Amino acid sequence: MPESRYDYIIVGGGSAGCVLANRLSASGKHRVCLLEAGPEDRTPLISTPGAFAYFMFSRKYNWMFDSEAKPDIRNGQPVFCPQGKTLGGGSAINAMVYIRGHRCDYNHWAALGNRGWGYDDLLPYFRKNETNERGGNEYHGDSGPIYVSDCRNYYPLNDRFLQAAEQAGFPITDDFNGADQEGVGYYQFTIREGKRCSASHGYLRPARSRPNLDVVCHAQATRILFEGRHAVGVEISRRGKTESLQADREVLLSAGAYNSPKLLMLSGVGAGDTLAGSGISPVHELPGVGENLQEHVDSCVLQYSLRNDGFRASLGGLLGQAPHLFRYLFTKTGKLESSVTQAGGFLKTRPDLEAPDVQLHFLPLLYDDSGRDLKLMARSGYSCHACVLRPKSRGRVTLDSPDPFAPPRIDLNFFDHPDDRKTLVEGIRLVRSILAAPAFDDYRGAELNPGPDAKSDEEILARAKERLGLVYHPSGTCKMGSDEMAVVDDELRVRGLESLRVVDASIMPTLIGGNTNAPVMVIAEKAADLILAPQERL
Ligand SMILES: Cc1cc2nc3c(=O)[nH]c(=O)nc-3n(C[C@H](O)[C@H](O)[C@H](O)COP(=O)(O)OP(=O)(O)OC[C@H]3O[C@@H](n4cnc5c(N)ncnc54)[C@H](O)[C@@H]3O)c2cc1C
Repeated sequence: MPESRYDYIIVGGGSAGCVLANRLSASGKHRVCLLEAGPEDRTPLISTPGAFAYFMFSRKYNWMFDSEAKPDIRNGQPVFCPQGKTLGGGSAINAMVYIRGHRCDYNHWAALGNRGWGYDDLLPYFRKNETNERGGNEYHGDSGPIYVSDCRNYYPLNDRFLQAAEQAGFPITDDFNGADQEGVGYYQFTIREGKRCSASHGYLRPARSRPNLDVVCHAQATRILFEGRHAVGVEISRRGKTESLQADREVLLSAGAYNSPKLLMLSGVGAGDTLAGSGISPVHELPGVGENLQEHVDSCVLQYSLRNDGFRASLGGLLGQAPHLFRYLFTKTGKLESSVTQAGGFLKTRPDLEAPDVQLHFLPLLYDDSGRDLKLMARSGYSCHACVLRPKSRGRVTLDSPDPFAPPRIDLNFFDHPDDRKTLVEGIRLVRSILAAPAFDDYRGAELNPGPDAKSDEEILARAKERLGLVYHPSGTCKMGSDEMAVVDDELRVRGLESLRVVDASIMPTLIGGNTNAPVMVIAEKAADLILAPQERL
């Protein structure tokens, strides 16, 4: 049973929540409660890097949201929006790619008026977050909670991808998180000795025995409790019962970019008309809640392979993996010790750009619809996905009803801005140029998508929309700033309210150019410093 009174209540035990739980409980001076709607993260499937696909089907560990359907996207089907639902959140079910983004992303946040959020301000937190197996230097840490390791590659196709990129004229890099992000190469991963290193593994587990930290799973926050403008606690639903917990200092929302704005709205904080439309009594008018949604929209080139040394989800293909299952069980090595995607890159679609505007994820298999298209995956092939790194379109998260157990309504508003369409098409063209290079000559079968008939921009875009996907980086729905649509200030305090902050991917004013797990953990590291009294800061 949780106590009913704490100094800090953290809602959501994901990437950000686990960092906060560790840092806020470290001094022993504060009573901290971490609430998580999902279960404990004890299944070996979470720690096994190669078990990624399992979570795309698991209602137990994944919120399994869908976006609103659009007639021209995926033939009118909704786009799948997976979100982690267990300790570790997204970091427990993600592809473990360790990326920080480009320095210009954070400098842009600072230029918008957010003091202390420039790249040079955040670099110390990135270093504090990681233990890089290559050791520390001016860009990398060697003693942080998250272990970052090099790729262990078992597929010749990945090497071919790097060779092909070089042949096509692109630079090769061995560190996307160093001085220069641009290039093609192998990613690094949040994996330690063949096991996933989620925020729960890195930050929460070492702190769980602290007497001043309670971790409560299967506890879904249904409302923030207010006295006037002051957040004083949280109402939760646990084992079918409603309970109230009191927060003497602060309530910290770390429920992720879909669920944090949802909880604010359920609690009466949001745009007046949206709240009224969902039958919720307003507590505080804040028009930006749920707005400004950004995601890395992606599509892919799918190529049949003439050889059978990639991954296939056919009976024969799976039987061929059996030795790797045993190898993993006994030694934590083999194909299951690696992520589903290993090689990729950050490229510019125009040479005059300050930073890469597309990211590539190469996979030695035919991968579409978040790995849920098993029929496709049973065939022999390879894929390269390209995403728009800084989308200009903005979507929104709203509610259909005041029911806390109903999913949020997610409108990704894809391609509202024409530049996003252009960037995606150019990204697909870059991918095609790599896959056409000589290194793939003895692998290259027919192109399945966009397909040989898709030549003009319009044809490529139409096929890209049919295979449209996400890189699962929703953000921006409680943006940091000072304009009227900002939800939190640059200390992440909800504007116009007291004792309430949002600390997760929602606060990004603009989506960073890269995968978001490390940036979110760094947001939480900085938030912990902002929350704690100056004498307690590390
Ligand atoms: C399938 C997938 C693959 C990804 N791959 C990568 C990758 O390879 N590399 C990378 O850098 N990033 C990746 N990401 C993105 C990255 O993991 C996320 O950006 C990051 O985890 C977000 O952290 P967060 O703290 O904002 O939210 P989350 O980590 O999602 O945490 C939110 C937590 O709050 C809980 N919660 C929600 N509502 C409530 C409530 N009402 N009450 C109590 N608890 C609640 C949730 O269950 C969850 O545990 C991936 C994400 C997904 C989903």
